[in-house]
Amino acid sequence: MQAFGLMIGGRSVATSDHADVIDPATGAVVGRMPLASQVDLDAAVGAATAAFATWSVTSDAERKAACQAIASAIEAHADELARLLTLEQGKPLNGLGSRFEIGGALAWTRHTAELALPVEVLQDTPEGRVELQRKPIGVVGSITPWNWPVMIACWHIIPAVRTGNTVVIKPSPLTPLSTIRLVELMNTVLPPGVVNVVTGDGDIGAALAAHTGIAKVTFTGSTATGRKIMAGAADTLKRLTLELGGNDAGIVLPDADPKAIAEGLFWGAFINSGQTCAALKRLYVHDSLYDDVCRELTAYAAQIPLGNGLDERSVLGPVQNRMQFDIVSAYVEDARAKGGRVLIGGSPTAGPGNFYPLTLVADVDHGCKLVDHEQFGPALPIIRYGNVEEAIAKANDNPAGLGGSVWGRDLARARDVANRLECGSVWINRHGAVQPNAPFGGVKQSGIGVEFGAEGLKEFTTIQTVFC
Ligand code: NAD
Repeated sequence: MQAFGLMIGGRSVATSDHADVIDPATGAVVGRMPLASQVDLDAAVGAATAAFATWSVTSDAERKAACQAIASAIEAHADELARLLTLEQGKPLNGLGSRFEIGGALAWTRHTAELALPVEVLQDTPEGRVELQRKPIGVVGSITPWNWPVMIACWHIIPAVRTGNTVVIKPSPLTPLSTIRLVELMNTVLPPGVVNVVTGDGDIGAALAAHTGIAKVTFTGSTATGRKIMAGAADTLKRLTLELGGNDAGIVLPDADPKAIAEGLFWGAFINSGQTCAALKRLYVHDSLYDDVCRELTAYAAQIPLGNGLDERSVLGPVQNRMQFDIVSAYVEDARAKGGRVLIGGSPTAGPGNFYPLTLVADVDHGCKLVDHEQFGPALPIIRYGNVEEAIAKANDNPAGLGGSVWGRDLARARDVANRLECGSVWINRHGAVQPNAPFGGVKQSGIGVEFGAEGLKEFTTIQTVFC
């Protein structure tokens, strides 16, 4: 079984300890993840610090070209990356799976490469000229989750290096191999030390977040871990971007067409088997069309093939890990115990693999875990409401505020309702689609800061005001 190495200062570094990475579809070992020590972490931060001295003063054109070269390297190895991603993450090669994720990583890299933050002239008068210029921050610590590991790694790394920072990334121990390979590819086109990767469990993440050589942490993961990172970063007042958990609500208005919206609702909730931060996680449907929406959604879900991601017929795959599988199972059982009606799924068969069936639970309300907490898996609660004010109040009655959606034929009415949702992104007649030119981030406890577009790029810079 292949033992992977860390990538520090442009070289692959072997470790004495490793951990197995498991295929969630079969339970087989995919490869061996290197376990970084504090010495390895210090070496990675040291390499990134040394590289910052020269990378931070390269020209804008040079950094743009380097990001485009990274994109070409990803493109040339897209099949290899997609296969490795499927093996360790579980998502199918097909559909909105691994090839889609690698395509997304590529699209974001190309788009972000072309962004620029030119000097802004705030004043140019006989009294003087005032300029706002943006400078790189230093060494960026990137900590990523297991759901979209390659795309999220690019969301962190590319804007950081585009603006002149250097990076030490720590991927999730559940899906580290595709990130190691990605960073190896980046190192074929970047100077040594600009991007480094260390792997290990949460402890190495905590050490990275608190490291005195790190100037900024960009983190995507759970709200609970985000709090710990914020505490760890406090001593050195690190800059933070936190993209955290969501519990996105969707509201189906009385004028919606159940048949027309079923496909969009389904993919809003079940993309990546529901393991997506801005997936639809609570669906509120008006009483007048509740049964029709339940019927259409059930019919759509029933024809989606679930299976091993390497099988081209599979459209969705397993839950990535047993812990998440157990959370989804427990939340569905809690909903059932509180009167929830399982329309489809709800009863996983015994292994191999973490296959949890696509599950819809009707007749639930606030007060059960499947509604109140983030399930992060293939189970959607459907809540009945009587008037729109009640639906808006319930949608906002949650500490999370990542995304939300409104579904209906009258677009002006849908937009009015959308504006009242407390969330960083809101969609009308779709849910969860993000794009590289539109800022994305959470309000309330779903995070701090945004990613993507010029606004996202700014998060990797500090402002220097020049009076001349
Ligand atoms: P997680 O918080 O368990 O782990 C994320 C990363 O943090 C991993 O690399 C992990 O090893 C590391 N980590 C764990 N403890 C740490 C600590 N004390 N200090 C520093 N790092 C530590 O999250 P997960 O289970 O991998 O991902 C699922 C969660 O991520 C969900 O809540 C989901 O909503 C969220 N998520 C959010 C977004 C977004 O953009 N808002 C995107 C994807 C996922």
